[in-house]
Amino acid sequence: MAEPTDTLRSDAVPSDIGHRLRSRAAELSSQIGAVLQARAASDELSAPEVEDLGDAGQRLSQEAVVDAENERDVEELRAIGLALERLQRGEYGECIDCGLEIDPQRLQVQPAAVRCVDCQGRSERLRALVGTGVGAAD
Ligand SMILES: [Zn+2]
Repeated sequence: MAEPTDTLRSDAVPSDIGHRLRSRAAELSSQIGAVLQARAASDELSAPEVEDLGDAGQRLSQEAVVDAENERDVEELRAIGLALERLQRGEYGECIDCGLEIDPQRLQVQPAAVRCVDCQGRSERLRALVGTGVGAAD
């Protein structure tokens, strides 16, 4: 009878997951850094002397898009940080809400996933409700 090894225990966890998470995190941080830097630069450059309203409006809507994208990146980076922490504690692959094992296929596609499909769906619905202010019921 062989003792169970680490490799056996972490069967469902892809062996390169730590590497994948870290390289994705590096990618995201540099993206986020670039966006913040670009914005700081454009804020400095655009001393609004003769900025006409059309330009200003366009710039604002562009910034809004960048914000939304950047926010997604920041959120993903946060999720990756959490996933790495859990990987270290040996909790990687467990749903943070219900504690059940997350489908390995889901983890392949989304290595930073911390919830099973069910809980993820629930949490997104909840967030959508809160986001629109409809969640006040109950
Ligand atoms: Zn769950």
